[in-house]
This record gives sequence, structure tokens and C-alpha cells, in this order.
Amino acid sequence: MTTTESNQSTDQIIDELRTWLEENWDLDLTVAEWWEKLGTAGWSAPSLPTNAYGRNVSRADAVRIAGEIASFGALGAPGGLGLLLAAPTIATHGTQEQIDLYVRDIVTGQKAWCQLFSEPGAGSDLAGLTTRAVQDGEEWVVNGQKVWTSTGQIADMGMLLARTNWDVPKHQGITYFALDVHQPGVDIRPLRELTGHAMFNEVFITDAHVGTDAIIGGLNNGWAVANTTLSNERAGLGAGGGGGGGFGASPGTVTNQLGRKVAEFVSRDGAPRRMSRGGGGGGGSKASARSTSAASLLIGLAEGNGKIKDPTVRQDLVRLHTLGELGRLNNERVKAARAQGQDIPGMANVSKLSMSHMVRLQRDLGLRIVGAQGMLHAYKDEDQKAISDATGNPFLGAVTNSALYAQAPPIYGGTDQIQRNIIGERVLGLPKEPSNDRVVAFNELPRNG
Ligand SMILES: Cc1cc2nc3c(=O)[nH]c(=O)nc-3n(C[C@H](O)[C@H](O)[C@H](O)COP(=O)(O)OP(=O)(O)OC[C@H]3O[C@@H](n4cnc5c(N)ncnc54)[C@H](O)[C@@H]3O)c2cc1C
Repeated sequence: MTTTESNQSTDQIIDELRTWLEENWDLDLTVAEWWEKLGTAGWSAPSLPTNAYGRNVSRADAVRIAGEIASFGALGAPGGLGLLLAAPTIATHGTQEQIDLYVRDIVTGQKAWCQLFSEPGAGSDLAGLTTRAVQDGEEWVVNGQKVWTSTGQIADMGMLLARTNWDVPKHQGITYFALDVHQPGVDIRPLRELTGHAMFNEVFITDAHVGTDAIIGGLNNGWAVANTTLSNERAGLGAGGGGGGGFGASPGTVTNQLGRKVAEFVSRDGAPRRMSRGGGGGGGSKASARSTSAASLLIGLAEGNGKIKDPTVRQDLVRLHTLGELGRLNNERVKAARAQGQDIPGMANVSKLSMSHMVRLQRDLGLRIVGAQGMLHAYKDEDQKAISDATGNPFLGAVTNSALYAQAPPIYGGTDQIQRNIIGERVLGLPKEPSNDRVVAFNELPRNG
């Protein structure tokens, strides 16, 4: 029997959840009504503290709770970056008033959030950001440009990093705001990726307004607050996520799903109809689960067209399986260490690197197995079906789709090179790159320095 950070054992929590689901799950509810119940009962983001609509359970138990809700056949918690990133950040650094204002709307799915961090000149070097916020009474006026903003087109709110002091070293002049993105000064423009989807956006901010009461964690303290967001992002990528699965329905006002019946989002046998796209991350348990299913798909394809006899294909299939198993075992090691109040330094970075390696291997292996057919890909469902019919291979789209998406995981959540830098400097104790950016005022640094 494992224990949690709350006083209850895992088994007790799961029993309580099952009873609660029996009493509350109802196919006649709207999505908004269901999420209101789920969120206020503490089941949407159970790893949050109790004063922030959570139950203070461990991350592992939160994953178990999300799985239990799914296997019960109920609609999962509202997914997305609000639950994964904004809620734990505001729960850590926000006032109780801010928690009640923002986190409540996140756990009940009322508002969707996006992460307004990266800029054209500030990605890996995030602290070099130049979006500026200037105080005007009780308000701040924001100007700048963000990019790579995942799910920005369906967001209501943004976790905004803006520079509020240019006369101090770059990490010390940043403030973290909760920005209402539904205002004239915020222009969100989707960017189409080579997958054909437009998951992320560029965001132009021109004289947008945000109140002093929307500063999270204090003026010029944004770097510390951002690090909470980033460590939740890394943990989400490296350890299978901490919040709800976001099965089926999208949170927020833009997708207009809150008024629909939950029955539309679960199938008759209770299984969720489809998974939401989320951030597309996945190291650790996520990556190992994915690699196992990817390996099975690739083995099936290779058996089907005879490539299974190719020794190099066989070797790479075993390599993929081995990396997946290593990810799973490392995830177990992290869980065991956490249960004893410890951590394994650098494991989130190692998991993220390993996940990048796996998606590249899946891409290369998949394309080798399908051969010349891998050059056929369509962006519309009906065109993809025509390709499947012509080739007789219904799984070709899965191979080409994941091959096109494989470029993203090695970049988001910190590129491979940045993960290696972190492992080198913080885990192995190698000397840092020489830099004076922690002592020189930002406005005296060369741009992007
Ligand atoms: C699918 C996807 C979704 C994303 N979603 C979001 C989002 O929702 N919100 C958000 O704010 N951002 C988001 N990002 C942005 C992401 O965090 C950045 O792309 C990432 O941090 C890299 O920044 P950059 O693109 O500016 O590349 P750069 O930082 O310009 O890097 C370019 C190259 O230089 C290398 N490099 C840079 N610095 C160093 C160094 N010190 N040492 C060695 N090599 C270095 C990098 O590894 C990379 O290969 C997303 C990205 C992707 C791909």
C-alpha cells in the first residue's frame, strides 16, 4: 500500500473516488456542470494543495486518479496548459484571492490558458525576453511579440512574462502576469506546422492592459515564478503528467464545448471518444507507453510487408523497445525516490532527451519499414483515406504523421542541447559557459546576450 502526501493511502483515495463517481457521474450533465463538480471536489487537479482546489496527493497518485476516472468511463478533467502549468504556478506563488479567481476557473474548465513565454529572440535564452510592461496607475500596458504559443487560439488567459525593469540584470527585471487575451491589444495568429495542423501561434501584443492585481508572485519576481511553470512543464513531459487527462472535451470559452452534454464525449461503453492533443509532450511513462504501442504498430507493419526479416530493422525495433523499457524503469526509480522524499537529479532532463531520441528512431524506422509509401501524406482526412485505400495500408497515416511531428519534441520544453547543458552543469558539475549576464543590467547587454 503506497502512501500519498495527504493523510490518506492511495487505496483509500481511490475508494473515495469510486464512491464519488458512482454518486456524481451522470450522462445528462453538461460538460460545464460535470467539471464544476469534478473541480470543486478536488479531483481535477488532485496534486494541488487543498486551498487550491486540490487534495495534496503525490504526482503518481494524481496520474492514478486520472486513470481511474477514465476507466470508470467518466469524462476526464479539463486538460491543457491551465491545469498542467498555470494552476500549480498560481497555487505556489499566488495570493488566496488569485487562487480563487484563476485556479477555480481552471479546475472547472471555465477558462483555457496558454503560455506566453517564448519570443522570436528569446527561446532557450528565455530571460532575454523584451516584451515590456509599463505601469500606468493600477494598470500595466504591455507591448511585444510572443511566438510558439501552443493552443493560444483557444485560450482565454495567458501566463505572460514581461520585462518591467531594464536597469537590473536580466533575470531580475521580469514580472509574471495573468493576461486576459480577449482584448483588442492581443492578436493571436495561428502558425501552420509541417504536420498540416496549427497547434501554435504567434501573438502580437500592442498596448494590451493588465491590472496590478494580476501580477503573480510579486513585481520583478517573474523569473522565480516562471521556473515553477517550467519545472511543472518538465515534470509533465518527464513523468507522465500530473493532472487530468483532458479526455474528449476542451476547456475554455472559445471551443464552445462547455454547454454540450458529457454523453457526446464518452462512448457507449464508457471509454473516452478521443484524446485531446494537449501539449504533445511525453517522456518517462508517457514515452514508454507510446513507444510500446509505436513498436507494436511498427512490428505489425514490418511483418505485413516482409521487412521484419531485415536484420537492421529488427535491431532498431529492439532498440526502440529497450529505450521504452529504460524510460519505464527510470520512471519507477523516480517514483520510488519521491516516495522517500528524495529526487534523482537530472532525471527529468535525461527522460526528455531519451524521449527525443525515441521519436527520431520511430520516425526513421517507420519510414524505412513503409519504404516509398512514406512519401505519400495528406492533410485532409478524406485524402488520407484515399491514400490508405490505394496502398491497402490503413496505418500509413500514423507513420507519416508521427514522422512529421518528430521534429517538435526535441525542441519544446527545452531543446536537446539545453537539456545536455543542464545535465553537464547542474548534475555533472562541469563549468558553466562564461557569461556576465547575471551581473550586468539588461539594457547594457548586447541584444539577446
Ligand atoms: C511544438 C512546440 C510547442 C511550443 N509551445 C510553446 C508554448 O506554448 N509557449 C512558449 O512560450 N513556448 C513554446 N515553445 C517554444 C519552445 O520553448 C522554444 O522553441 C525552445 O525553448 C527553443 O527556443 P527557440 O525556438 O527560440 O530556439 P533557440 O533558443 O534560438 O535555439 C536555436 C538552436 O540553438 C541551440 N542553442 C541555443 N542556446 C544554446 C546554448 N546555450 N547551448 C547550446 N545550444 C544552444 C538550440 O538547442 C537550438 O538548436 C514551443 C515549441 C515547440 C516546438
